[in-house]
Amino acid sequence: MCYVLPAEVVEIDKIKNIGIVDYFGEKRKVLLDLDDVRVGDYIYAQGGVMVRKLDKTEALEILEVWKDLFLELKRKDQELSKISEKELPANILEVLQKVNLKKTLTKQDVKALFGIKNPKEMEVMLEVANHVRQRTHGNSCCVHGIIEFSNYCTQNCYYCGIRKNYDLNRYRMSVDEIVAAAKSAVDKYNFKALCLQSGEDFWHDDDKLEEIVRRVRELEVLVFVSIGSRSVETYQRLYNAGARAALLRFETSNEKLFAKLRPGTKLQDRINLIKSIKDMGYILSTGFIVGLPEQTEDDIINSIFLTTELKADMYSFGPLIPTIGTPLADAEKVAAETMLKVIAATRFVNPDANILVTTALETLSDQAKREALAAGANSLMIDVTPVEFQEMYKIYDNKASLHNKTDKVVQDTIALLASLGRAPTDLGI
Ligand code: SAH
Ligand code: SF4
Repeated sequence: MCYVLPAEVVEIDKIKNIGIVDYFGEKRKVLLDLDDVRVGDYIYAQGGVMVRKLDKTEALEILEVWKDLFLELKRKDQELSKISEKELPANILEVLQKVNLKKTLTKQDVKALFGIKNPKEMEVMLEVANHVRQRTHGNSCCVHGIIEFSNYCTQNCYYCGIRKNYDLNRYRMSVDEIVAAAKSAVDKYNFKALCLQSGEDFWHDDDKLEEIVRRVRELEVLVFVSIGSRSVETYQRLYNAGARAALLRFETSNEKLFAKLRPGTKLQDRINLIKSIKDMGYILSTGFIVGLPEQTEDDIINSIFLTTELKADMYSFGPLIPTIGTPLADAEKVAAETMLKVIAATRFVNPDANILVTTALETLSDQAKREALAAGANSLMIDVTPVEFQEMYKIYDNKASLHNKTDKVVQDTIALLASLGRAPTDLGI
């Protein structure tokens, strides 16, 4: 199973370095900055960036295997994204009609959606979100791998289980270990995008990070970095070494809450860094935590709009998982329904958004992944950290992946995507 299908390049804009690629008749825009490419070539793309060229014969062989399956998946997805006609209160109907007419939603509109209590109305809202996802992205679904390479951290975020003051077994993977883990994810599971994540740990200095990015990029994958608040210079060096995507959440749009939960740091500094990363040309994945103590509904709505303002290419938000040993251990658990509302509302505010089902969200219930994908989400991450380290990377309790080996998670994900009619075509930009 490939995590992304080959696509044919059908048009190239040389000035902007953007190509139009074709997946069985569906067109997507792709950035071509990583390689020399011509019309008629076949390529792999991830997150809207070309990852590598592949031989035409090989590409046609893969596509031949996929042809019937792709059309079958597409049909299934269309079937599952239909909207049923049910009675809705006038204010909700008005908002959903606005979505349907592709009008921009206001915060007030989103507030009306958050006010939905009736299960039937909730069902319709999620159906519409799924429909909008299908209308803008077809049945594409990106699956990225994540390697958690160090649980050392110099920060003390209140929510996090690997915060500096927490007493736990710490590990740092060496450069060779990280590259070996990446190679295994590529060779064994065919990943075409890998996220490299860690605490804010300066032991992995710029030289080491640069070597890691360069060597992982040589495996012909999209390199995603998630290393927290490092300097603009660090991010620039990593971009120059081949990293093309960065995951950095602003965590909450509420300045006071941010300062309290991330002691010694300021929201504005984090936002400035996120903006610099975006300006450098990185594919930006950002977002926030839902369910922080003292967080209001307005805070959540503001956070959805802030993610849009920051021009996120990928929305990453997840529920707070109250974690033993952290100052937020006794916080209230977030209802799965709240997360589905956030996903659906985000899909309405930005129909083009790529919305990630985060690993934290998966811990809410066995069905969380399926429900999120059916509520407007269109992207997944699978933990491919070597098991001996995975167990020590406890940013939150009950990580869903820990119950299962990577092999099983990969197989379950393939089965889940097939049952929902999703295909591993790239999402485009
Ligand atoms: N140190 C980096 C990357 C690792 S943490 C950083 O902070 O950016 C990655 C994300 O995990 C954080 O952005 C935070 O939103 C999330 N996180 C940490 N603890 C969590 C918890 N208990 N529940 C939910 N999300 C959590
Ligand atoms: Fe460190 Fe990130 Fe956890 Fe904060 S969220 S303590 S920066 S790993």
